[in-house]
Amino acid sequence: MEEPVPMYDLVVIGSGPAGSSAAITAARSGARTLLLERGRFPRTKVCGEFVSAESLGLLSWLLDSRGKDLLNEANRIPKLRIFSDGLVLTSQLDPPAASVSRFDLDAALWEAAGSSGVEAREQITVEALSGGGPFIVCAGENAFESRSVINASGRWSRLTAAGLINSKPGKKWLGVKAHFAEEQLSQSVDLYFFPGGYCGVQPVVLRSQGKENRINVCAMVRTDIASTLSGVFEQNSFLQERSRHWSQLTEPVSTSPLIFREPRPLQGNVLLAGDAAAFVDPFVGDGISLALRSGALAARALIPYVSKRTSLAAAAQSYRRAYESELGPVFRVSSRLRPIFFLLPRVLRVALLAGLKRSPALVRYFVQHTR
Ligand SMILES: Cc1cc2nc3c(=O)[nH]c(=O)nc-3n(C[C@H](O)[C@H](O)[C@H](O)COP(=O)(O)OP(=O)(O)OC[C@H]3O[C@@H](n4cnc5c(N)ncnc54)[C@H](O)[C@@H]3O)c2cc1C
Repeated sequence: MEEPVPMYDLVVIGSGPAGSSAAITAARSGARTLLLERGRFPRTKVCGEFVSAESLGLLSWLLDSRGKDLLNEANRIPKLRIFSDGLVLTSQLDPPAASVSRFDLDAALWEAAGSSGVEAREQITVEALSGGGPFIVCAGENAFESRSVINASGRWSRLTAAGLINSKPGKKWLGVKAHFAEEQLSQSVDLYFFPGGYCGVQPVVLRSQGKENRINVCAMVRTDIASTLSGVFEQNSFLQERSRHWSQLTEPVSTSPLIFREPRPLQGNVLLAGDAAAFVDPFVGDGISLALRSGALAARALIPYVSKRTSLAAAAQSYRRAYESELGPVFRVSSRLRPIFFLLPRVLRVALLAGLKRSPALVRYFVQHTR
């Protein structure tokens, strides 16, 4: 006789920061949780690797004891510097952010999921979902039955991207990053803006390499402006000068297209977390934080349904409300900041930046309100 297929309380699709956070939170609350990941850990990821302070408490709670060492050893980033139009703006980051390599971070969260009681399976690509609760989750020859689903498959999977590529005509954006060695490390996140993009630079530790003088260099750029890091370096004179002293440690990795869109935390009764729900402009440095927080919010919203105290539809609506009230402000502020760097005529931007340079309190205000 065939074994009956087990019914999970929750299937989480994708094990980036959003999916791991959701799965760990759910499993620690007693939900029978399956986490499905297309790739394998550890792996590199195009990312500035800046983790804003607001989610460090949550991150520490999610990680197991080995993972906590990663956080303790991570560089702290107490300062932001913006290099644009020949001007340099500086702001304190108080409390400081952290710089954690995605190679280490995503693997540590994956391990923490396993040690929290999540059934975590790598190299399983989810291809389709059917039902409205319970769901059938189809992945090649595998089919899993679950009472609820969180889609945390990122901004660009076949489950979230359908139709997006044609929905926004216009210039294509690319993300590209590599690690470099630099003699004198600056304990700051440095953002170099130029027409059609920006490049972020900050010190980072790679667990396997110890405390060498390593920096992460990650750019977001329009493909008609540049498609390589060396092409990016030419776009900002401060960056060009600084990069002359670097030596490359890793091969560049890239991702395209980058499409920004309004938050959409639900798809029917499926909860969307992290980039699957919305992609925030990377220069605000909040994508990882939003992913961790939305994953945890989604799992917490499902717990009353898992314990049969409410319906799936009610749990989904409670997630939508929590998402909008807790995370909505970050999207609103970042969508207001974006035009300053990418749409405003140069003369107006320079006047605005010169004004901000004279008023560090205002710069701090903007930094705090993207949190
Ligand atoms: C250029 C650039 C720079 C950035 N810099 C920063 C920064 O400095 N700080 C910051 O906070 N954020 C930054 N971000 C944003 C940040 O990387 C994302 O917001 C974050 O990774 C979102 O996490 P996530 O878990 O939602 O998605 P992801 O990290 O993309 O994880 C999704 C996971 O789902 C898996 N998956 C996909 N499809 C399937 C499927 N069908 N079945 C199973 N698994 C699947 C993928 O393999 C992946 O592991 C940057 C982004 C870019 C592009």
